[in-house]
Amino acid sequence: MRSLSAHGLAMADQLRQSSIDEFQCGRCGAVYDVAITHLALRANYDAICNVCQKVMNEWHGTVGRAYTLKSQPAHA
Ligand SMILES: [Zn+2]
Repeated sequence: MRSLSAHGLAMADQLRQSSIDEFQCGRCGAVYDVAITHLALRANYDAICNVCQKVMNEWHGTVGRAYTLKSQPAHA
């Protein structure tokens, strides 16, 4: 029984680290959840802040990043 619960914890840890990250916009301080996704096309992508329109990240390839606004800066 002890080994079963240890296995469950390890799986939860792995999921959290590989699929969700947190990112804070360098300009306005908005906080985003970042989910790693797989894109069908290898191309150039960018992520633009919903609050201040700053380009937060740019990349090329098929690994996508889906930014979900989690908390807005108090002064925006
Ligand atoms: Zn911003």
